[in-house]
Amino acid sequence: MIDEKSRTTAKAALTEYLRIKKLRKTPERYAILDKVCEMNRHFDIDMLYDIIEEDGFHVSRATLYNTMELFTDCGIVRRHQFGNQPMQYERVAGLSNHLHLICQQCGKIKEAKDPELVKFMNSRKYSAFHNAWFCLYVYGTCAACARRNKRLCKNKN
Ligand SMILES: [Zn+2]
Ligand SMILES: [Zn+2]
Repeated sequence: MIDEKSRTTAKAALTEYLRIKKLRKTPERYAILDKVCEMNRHFDIDMLYDIIEEDGFHVSRATLYNTMELFTDCGIVRRHQFGNQPMQYERVAGLSNHLHLICQQCGKIKEAKDPELVKFMNSRKYSAFHNAWFCLYVYGTCAACARRNKRLCKNKN
């Protein structure tokens, strides 16, 4: 699902950022942004690279990495490092504050909403600091891995 409004907003944010930083408005940067706007889930550089390649558009992984750094800096995406997996990104537009539940066995990431916790976090005040947003990783075992563990346990007996 492509949200045209958030795409327009992201493009405007990028244009403004490039202007302030005196960086060039290369078509490449906008083409990458277009693809990023079509991503609904977390993605890493390799996933983005494959999607862009499929479209017959060639950019190096280094360019993608640098462009994603730029998008992170101008607030279009957020960067995540889940355990020892490659750096993941997610779009900020339409993102409600969510937790990431990370399975320590298979590395699967599940998103969860916790309105109570968000309310609590939003009410927190820290000395000489203005909170903008927070990010929380919860590590544990996913349902599939828990089932597998149970099975393995049974087989041993
Ligand atoms: Zn798992
Ligand atoms: Zn997420």
